[in-house]
Amino acid sequence: MSTATDIQATEARYVLQTYKRLPVVFVRGDGRRIIDIEGRAYLDFLSGIGVSVLGHGHPALARAVAEQAAALLHTSNLYFHPLQGKVAERLSALSGLQRTFFCNSGTEAMEACLKFARRYWFTQGVRGRTHYVAFEHGFSGRSMGALSVTANPHYREPFEPLIPGVTFVSPTDVAGLDAAVSSSTAAIVVEPLQGEGGVRPIPPAMAAAIERACTRTGALLIADEVQCGLGRTGAPFYFQTLGLTPDLVTVGKALGGGVPVGAALVAEHVAAQVLPGDHGTTYGGNLLAMRAALVVLEALMDQGLQAHVAETGTYFEAKLRALAATRPVIADVRGAGLMRGLELTRDAAPVVEGALARGLIVNRTAERVVRMLPPYTVTTAEIDEAVAILDAVLAGLPAEVESR
Ligand SMILES: *Cc1c(COP(=O)(O)O)cnc(C)c1O
Repeated sequence: MSTATDIQATEARYVLQTYKRLPVVFVRGDGRRIIDIEGRAYLDFLSGIGVSVLGHGHPALARAVAEQAAALLHTSNLYFHPLQGKVAERLSALSGLQRTFFCNSGTEAMEACLKFARRYWFTQGVRGRTHYVAFEHGFSGRSMGALSVTANPHYREPFEPLIPGVTFVSPTDVAGLDAAVSSSTAAIVVEPLQGEGGVRPIPPAMAAAIERACTRTGALLIADEVQCGLGRTGAPFYFQTLGLTPDLVTVGKALGGGVPVGAALVAEHVAAQVLPGDHGTTYGGNLLAMRAALVVLEALMDQGLQAHVAETGTYFEAKLRALAATRPVIADVRGAGLMRGLELTRDAAPVVEGALARGLIVNRTAERVVRMLPPYTVTTAEIDEAVAILDAVLAGLPAEVESR
């Protein structure tokens, strides 16, 4: 078998270098543990960025995927198969949006929603209603469309010009939102609990302002729930917690539990304006992805996993707040359920590296934020273990606190 060094050397030579990976090679997983090529186990508090929600090596998911691979993997969208309707029915029950378009990632789900919003106006003969309003610190993906509604200049600038007519508003600037949304706005795009932007919930006052702006102008609302949706925050969707009523919702990450799949959830009044041939994909909704999604949705909806996320999420928050009370380097504790961020008074990179060295996987986002997205199956004992490791790492941080 190749060594970690061989593996890294082959990648360095042949793989396009778009990622700065940490120097660890994972080969298998078991529950909330993920094991590297040297046999070392790590407690996984990131889940592959919010994906492996049933943990690793989950017996029912592994069995379902293996069975499906043996029976039939793929048919294309030219024919029916038994599973798309079942997954769509569950997504509709969970979200209240009637229809689903299946794709393969969160980015594609946003791409679909941006198109469906324009199609909605075009079909009704409304020309020029093509603009979008989106929020600073939001993230919706890296394709030209999804990037166009993602504010971060670092991601955008090398690829400009992007699609025109997008206005960004600060999540705390209600007057700015009111000024930005007009009768040329096709849709407002909001990530209800911003993940990449630093685990920042949209403030309730802004949620109310979004609803008012949609009522005032008729603009559609697209909620990006790729990271915060599908049970992650203790509720099925964070838009529900905020009292938003989106017309379109993106999901991804958690949906396949590790098998790539995304979906655009579409309210009936929008779905009615989208016609056969308007949009499509080769792989979207294939049998493998749908089988995996059914296992995840059954665990969430029928097997008590949603309640477990809510309970362990509350426990996790209490532990993090207690940690913050003793570690002044923690400036803020944010998030909901099992989506949590610790904003530090300094760069979070040494914390991520220190945690990895002690066998805990967490992630840094927005420079100063330690982000945690453990599997939904995490136990309170594992939360205790993770928080103890974080405490030890923070204790060893250089005492000086950088100015903000
Ligand atoms: C990860 C993410 C995306 C992009 O999803 P991909 O599956 O990486 O394409 C979009 N929106 C949000 C909120 C995300 O967290």
